[in-house]
Amino acid sequence: LANRLNSFSDSVIRRMTRIANQFDAINLSQGFPDFDPPAQLIAALKQTADTGPHQYEVTWGSAEFRQLLAQKQQKRMNIPINSNENVLVTCGSTEAMMCAVMTVCNPKDKVIIFSPFYENYGADAILSDAQPIYVPLIPPSFEFDKQQLRHAFEQGAKALILCNPSNPCGKVFTHEELSYISELAIEFDAYVITDEVYEHLVYEPHQHFYLASFPGMKERTITCSSLSKTYSVTGWRLGHIIADKAIIDGCKMIHDFLTVGAAAPLQKAACAGLAFADEYYQQLTQTYTEKRKLFLDGLDQIGLSYYPPQGAYYVLVDISSFNPFTTDFEFCEWLIKAVGVAAVPGSAFFKEPEYRYIRFHFAKKHETLLAALTRLSKLK
Ligand code: GLN
Repeated sequence: LANRLNSFSDSVIRRMTRIANQFDAINLSQGFPDFDPPAQLIAALKQTADTGPHQYEVTWGSAEFRQLLAQKQQKRMNIPINSNENVLVTCGSTEAMMCAVMTVCNPKDKVIIFSPFYENYGADAILSDAQPIYVPLIPPSFEFDKQQLRHAFEQGAKALILCNPSNPCGKVFTHEELSYISELAIEFDAYVITDEVYEHLVYEPHQHFYLASFPGMKERTITCSSLSKTYSVTGWRLGHIIADKAIIDGCKMIHDFLTVGAAAPLQKAACAGLAFADEYYQQLTQTYTEKRKLFLDGLDQIGLSYYPPQGAYYVLVDISSFNPFTTDFEFCEWLIKAVGVAAVPGSAFFKEPEYRYIRFHFAKKHETLLAALTRLSKLK
């Protein structure tokens, strides 16, 4: 078999879901909701079963999907988006990110990745024959060292991957940080590939800014996002890329030969969500604000220490006081079997040898979160 299989491992996040299922644990590892998508999406999906489409859509996504997405994001991102020239519909942001890296990187090009990072990015770079350069985000605020980031660009980086709001640490990059990243990207003529799937999950007083809207960045930012988190449809595998025409034209070629296209009936049904008014997104933020509070309050009561997330739906919990475990993975296995709750070992997200954290997600019904907290209270 090919050598590249030795350059990365399977996804620890997905592995934890398989172990959680095996032991019937409450799964707070892989981040996905245990509640239904909005009723309008389900109704639209049922209707699509009758009316179709059931055959291939246009490779880059249905015209209706692209138009609705362009309308929605143009308002939010504050840049002009032409649905024919600047939008590509992908099979989740997982494909979007891979497609973006493959579109801009030649073999041996360097890609900057902040650590901790969502584990796909390492594989995205490696599978594209690019070389990751990791720059740490330093707890407790997960700020980066400006000199260190500059140094990474000085090494000739072709692109930087920016997850904002960030999985797993919940960091929301400030306006000032994004301005600095923009200045470096322009100075060193690099691309920035963003993963903004948690764009609607930002907690007060923090605010999300789209990097593509910063001066000089529209031309060099490849904005990837998805419907998974925004409409609670992680299994529909619908994502998208927004970028300048020249970049999108490249992404379209890669996407075409990788997938031919995202599922046509699901694109059709998803249009019901893309047409929602702004209130939907405000309500979504509100719902997650409540889940965040419920879960963090519960962790406080148990006495577990953690980094309060500014956005997204994850929390890194410090397990260093639980001594006998040699690794975070061992701790997580024990947590599944003895306590009945699944988390992701933090080391899956760090480049540095870091075994102090586990990651929970709180995209669950209140009753599920309460049941998990009851089980976790045994840790006291
Ligand atoms: N983004 C989610 C997580 O980090 C789900 C990842 C996945 O399995 N696609 O848990």
